[in-house]
Amino acid sequence: MSAPLVLLVLGGTGDARALAGRLAGDSRFQASVSLAGAVERPEAYALPVRTGGFGGAEGLARTLSDMEAAALVDATHPFAARITANAAAAASAADVPLLRLQRPPWHPEPGDDWREVGDLDAAVAALPQGARPFLAVGRKEIARFAGRTDLDCLMRMIDPPREDVPLPRGRLMLARPSDDVDAEAALLASHGATHVVAKNSGGRWGAAKLVAARQLGLPVIMVRRPCSAAACETVGDVEAAMAWLDRLAAGDASG
Ligand code: NAP
Repeated sequence: MSAPLVLLVLGGTGDARALAGRLAGDSRFQASVSLAGAVERPEAYALPVRTGGFGGAEGLARTLSDMEAAALVDATHPFAARITANAAAAASAADVPLLRLQRPPWHPEPGDDWREVGDLDAAVAALPQGARPFLAVGRKEIARFAGRTDLDCLMRMIDPPREDVPLPRGRLMLARPSDDVDAEAALLASHGATHVVAKNSGGRWGAAKLVAARQLGLPVIMVRRPCSAAACETVGDVEAAMAWLDRLAAGDASG
């Protein structure tokens, strides 16, 4: 039997975790996952995990060469634009096939009232005076809302913000997104929310708050995804990623 193919999966998403579950125990591959270290208590992966930045695209290219990687899978979050650009540059420099695993964005459905904006600063500006928004944004981004002292915010994030980070007025909730629409609707109602602010992450995780907003007739300030710098093959789910890896293992180096 030939030696297993070495894979590096750039993670930090539910899809990366699901892909790790599929690759663990697949004797064709020797895969590991890389995390930025952004979350204090990351969810468990079924593969070995390394944590921390590589030192830019050059560092990632070196890592790929050192580990004799057969492929790089970029399964990072759609809003993690820097690592995705680095992955493209590094894979090209190290001549390693690259696959982007990125879930499709959400689209508004009948009954939705979305106001799409280009970035978080535009989301801040889109909130009317005295609004009571539910802010589904991370701890590194929450400070952008702090200047709006007229708002009364319900903020949900996984880890607490650093102590020196200014927060907008309101209630801070430390929790992962729920996929229970009723629980999300109850949470929005308990705050008397007037708006939901969300990034267009896509996927099943985090979609329940949008359904709850629709049910309650609340406008959603939806932040569009940043443009992806990667001009590589992109798949939208773990099944398609496995099909690409099947082709790689079968000897089609282009994936
Ligand atoms: P980013 O702005 O694209 O990347 C910033 C730097 O963090 C990169 O230049 C890289 O450092 C390091 N990095 C990012 N992802 C890494 C990974 N998987 N493994 C090793 N180093 C990594 O990323 P971000 O938006 O801060 O996101 C950080 C992580 O959180 C990502 O893994 C992403 O999947 C996850 N995440 C992000 C969001 C979001 O909204 N941005 C949401 C959920 C999860 P070096 O240049 O030193 O290599």
